[in-house]
Amino acid sequence: MGNVYLTGAGPGDMELLTVKALRVIKEADVVIYDRLANPELLKEAKDGCEFVYVGKEDGRHSMPQDDINETIYQNSLKYENVVRLKGGDPFVFGRGGEEAVYLHERGVGFEIIPGITSSVAVPAYAGIPVTHRGVAVSFRVVTGHESPNKKSSQIPWENYKTDDTIVFLMGLHNLPKIAKKLMQIGKPADYPCAVISRGTTPDQVVIVGTLEDIVEKSKGIPTPALIVVGKVVKLREQLKWFGN
Ligand code: SAH
Repeated sequence: MGNVYLTGAGPGDMELLTVKALRVIKEADVVIYDRLANPELLKEAKDGCEFVYVGKEDGRHSMPQDDINETIYQNSLKYENVVRLKGGDPFVFGRGGEEAVYLHERGVGFEIIPGITSSVAVPAYAGIPVTHRGVAVSFRVVTGHESPNKKSSQIPWENYKTDDTIVFLMGLHNLPKIAKKLMQIGKPADYPCAVISRGTTPDQVVIVGTLEDIVEKSKGIPTPALIVVGKVVKLREQLKWFGN
């Protein structure tokens, strides 16, 4: 029985890949990948390597997670080296944990290869450090997929009154609700935030605004995109370096 490598592909820039990830891609018999993984990486695989796309479009899952789990499992019965390539880090909103549990339950060996997560790297490419002495002593990475108006919300919004940085992933279509909610809990309307689209790639777009105007300013911006809320956003004025 083969081995499955649950591998982080990094945030987009090909070079933001670990040495270990590159090695397992080169050795792979099959690479199972999704939309966020840079397709250029597949060129690193050896001749005869099989590629299986299990991509998810935003919100709409082109393949249900159960089917993805089963696809990985079936490939592990067939091949020695199975690479499951996922955008960013496999354990940061990547459902890598679910895939690992599925394999564990079936006695399949696996390894986790952490990746550079977009939640930190994308702000960095926009010149926004997620922590900064005297500005933010911590940062949170939060799902933006869940509507803030949901009754059973597990997100502790009331804890978000501090100036710690909040990075919302998968939040673009809920941005109006997220901005409103943050103002409701007491953040000022002119509180800094940014939306960063296709970060770390040549298509990177950074929109800087406030909770009040970010929705208007970022209209029509393409996915994938993440939202950074916090005073650290201001540092971009000095730290902007990429895509100048
Ligand atoms: N495991 C991934 C995150 C998966 S959730 C990681 O660690 O990066 C998918 C979300 O990540 C997207 O909805 C978007 O909010 C964010 N994202 C991923 N790549 C991005 C990029 N290049 N630019 C902006 N946001 C990105």
